Amino acid sequence: MRLGDVAGIKASLIEKLMLMTPPIETVLDLVQHYPHRYHDRTRRSEIAGLIIGDEATLVAKVSKIAARKARSGKWMVEAVVGDDSGDLNLVFFNQRWRVNQLAEGTEVALYGKFDVYRGKRQMTNPIVDVIGRSGDQKTGVIVPIYPQSGKADVSSWEIKEAIAAALTHVGRFAETLPSDVLTEAKLVSRTDAYRHVHQPETLEQKRQAQRRLTFDEFLRLQLGLVARKRAIEAEERGICHKVDGPLVEQFLAALPFTLTSDQRDAISHIAHDLARPIPMHRLMQGEVGSGKTVVALTALLMAAQGGYQGALMAPTEVLAEQLFAVASEALGAITAPSEGTLLPERPVTVALLTNRVGAAERRRIAKGLAEGQIDIVVGTHALLYGDAPFTKLGLVVIDEQHRFGVEQRALLKGLGDDPDVLVMTATPIPRTAAMLVYGDLDHTELRDMPPGRMPVITKACTSVDRGEAYVRLRSEVEDNGHQAFVVCPLVEGSTKIEAKAATEEYERLAVEDLVGLRLGLLHGQMPAADKNSTMAAFRAGDLEVLVATTVIEVGVDIPNATVMIVEDADRFGLSQLHQLRGRVGRGTSAAWCFLLADPVTPDSQARIAAMVASSDGFQLAERDLEIRGSGQVLGEKQSGIGDLKLGRLPRDERYVLYSRSVAERLLDADPGLEANSALAQEVDDILGDDVEFLFKS
Ligand code: ADP
Ligand code: MG
Repeated sequence: MRLGDVAGIKASLIEKLMLMTPPIETVLDLVQHYPHRYHDRTRRSEIAGLIIGDEATLVAKVSKIAARKARSGKWMVEAVVGDDSGDLNLVFFNQRWRVNQLAEGTEVALYGKFDVYRGKRQMTNPIVDVIGRSGDQKTGVIVPIYPQSGKADVSSWEIKEAIAAALTHVGRFAETLPSDVLTEAKLVSRTDAYRHVHQPETLEQKRQAQRRLTFDEFLRLQLGLVARKRAIEAEERGICHKVDGPLVEQFLAALPFTLTSDQRDAISHIAHDLARPIPMHRLMQGEVGSGKTVVALTALLMAAQGGYQGALMAPTEVLAEQLFAVASEALGAITAPSEGTLLPERPVTVALLTNRVGAAERRRIAKGLAEGQIDIVVGTHALLYGDAPFTKLGLVVIDEQHRFGVEQRALLKGLGDDPDVLVMTATPIPRTAAMLVYGDLDHTELRDMPPGRMPVITKACTSVDRGEAYVRLRSEVEDNGHQAFVVCPLVEGSTKIEAKAATEEYERLAVEDLVGLRLGLLHGQMPAADKNSTMAAFRAGDLEVLVATTVIEVGVDIPNATVMIVEDADRFGLSQLHQLRGRVGRGTSAAWCFLLADPVTPDSQARIAAMVASSDGFQLAERDLEIRGSGQVLGEKQSGIGDLKLGRLPRDERYVLYSRSVAERLLDADPGLEANSALAQEVDDILGDDVEFLFKS
């Protein structure tokens, strides 16, 4: 339904609504533009009644506003607002645009802390919602406040009027849920929900409306995910692997350590999946160092002992080479019964295939695969694109990647059978979030770490005490022969500026804080050959300190490095900081991570505090979700997560779980949602192109 069809919305307003981000183009967009706050007029305070320290909510009218430059050189905006009881000063720092927002006569809702400063009654940097311009009609006790997008210049009041017109125009909304679900979950109808989210008469009505609409958001996502998972499973053309056998036994018996209980669980889940005729599609999350490789190798041996080939893929050539070295060493002593030859046994054979491998070696690998002498190929993702001519591919393990989507699966099919897939990632995301983003995958976590690892001592330093970090670094290098990283700030969108900043810091450190130490520089703008030689020198111990941009984030393994200094740490995300910190403390000596920052925003303060408080990646991921909100953390485009307008994690965990069970029930009863076209349409809308795959019978 187009906005133009609705009587009572002016063409000029429609134009402005289209300019909002995201644009409001249809009636559905409009009624799903929810208030981000409500102002309850029955509970507002009066200016005259405020006491110092009160966190107050006020409705007042702007009577005066002006901007001036303070002595510090910063802009300061001062306004006077008033209600029937009296006047109040507002002070805003660094928000010069307030002058335009709060023209005289504007009615505003204010949330802030009341204070008296030099005898003046005031609020500093309060939260301000513009309710309307002077002369607007003031109806309703609970006033919805809409998110306004600055560029489009649409006031909350205009949006409210447009929505009122749209609600009248629509009348009743199609109900998408069967009545037994409505009753069971005590949910209000869609018609009531849309009406009361915008025009509540009581706060309870508003709450019920939000509950229903939040539930709908999660249900749509879960329907899509469950349908996709079922579609994959319905194919039932998977390989039944021989999961018990001599190779796995030999391998596990020869391990120089005992498996953690999470590793044992992971192996048994994978064994269960591999034995079934349904292709495995499992995600294993575990922090750096949690021991994912052993689990992966065990799975590959399960495939090999039934005569299938395995692929082990890493995101970069360096990581592939690293994995190949580990795999060759771990599997070298294991022997496989050899069928085609007279010899009774042959070693399990691993080959490396990357762009650096020459033509002759490629031919050898092809021959080995064709004749059944090569069991496992380690390489980069190029393996997927037909680089290795597998003849009996049974299992694909993908290291350090989040998502293995529909397209990649399609590529695999091109390689022959329907191999099982295990995806591994070291960037954990919280469990319920994983149920949303990876709800079409099975999912395993390695939470406990192998014993004997020392936690990294993490300290936050401000510009006043950053010297401590350099003192520690120097003593670790000079007294203990250890190495260190200095990570330079991230520059959004510009590796060039980033490189420049790192170069300057490198030059500064060389003559100031770290004078006399052997420093190396590493950034993304350097030629690959220089990067490699710098890394090699650092690895060999010829360089003592590596000054680098975040290029070191992935996969660098230097057990002798025991100090990490992160400059401007407040500019990094929490998971990134955690990944960076994971680069030290990989040996058996104590290690330090210094976060240098003078964080000003509450979010950046919270991130730094979280890093100091915890070294558990899963806990930090939960915290990250709380601080930044699900849209930011999980990425807007991932599986329709960006569609969540009301829903929020981790707050709405219960909805995730419950909507999952409802989705399963609805699809059990009606796998194609044929009897519920309104709901099918909504799922279609959020999943876009994937839908074809979904509801194809
Ligand atoms: P990641 O999960 O980061 O891939 P790795 O598999 O590389 O971790 O394991 C990190 C190190 O821990 C390796 O040296 C590995 O041999 C060792 N390791 C793995 N599992 C255990 C265990 N259960 N006990 C002790 N050490 C282990
Ligand atoms: Mg690994």
